[in-house]
Amino acid sequence: MSANCLFCKIAAKQIPSKIVYEDPDLFAFEDINPQAPTHILICPRKHFKSLAHAAPEDQAILGKLQLVAAQLARERNLLDGYRTVLNSGEGAGQTVFHLHLHLLGGRHFRWPPG
Ligand code: 5GP
Ligand code: ZN
Repeated sequence: MSANCLFCKIAAKQIPSKIVYEDPDLFAFEDINPQAPTHILICPRKHFKSLAHAAPEDQAILGKLQLVAAQLARERNLLDGYRTVLNSGEGAGQTVFHLHLHLLGGRHFRWPPG
């Protein structure tokens, strides 16, 4: 746990959130400001500032992030498609510096993203 990290505090349940999935490696919760009918954030319990701070030994956890996103999308019947997004760095729009994967679904998405 990293001191003063919002998402580490959510994992520790020191800050309330709507947790939708938990296991020993990952936790997932509803985004407080949803950008689509489904908007879930999936995080490793291990604190990484961003994808740029991940290393080869983190391969399994990073793969699991995507597989849990696919599982949650199946559970929510996102049959028309869904999008997973990982913003890495301020220039890409990252605002919380604990690595997280966005799962967005339930509406049409344009390409390229803004
Ligand atoms: P980023 O911009 O870093 O990729 O995404 C951060 C996300 O965290 C945003 O979509 C924002 O709405 C969400 N967020 C920020 N603070 C909180 C919070 O306290 N609780 C929850 N559930 N989501 C948050
Ligand atoms: Zn953290």
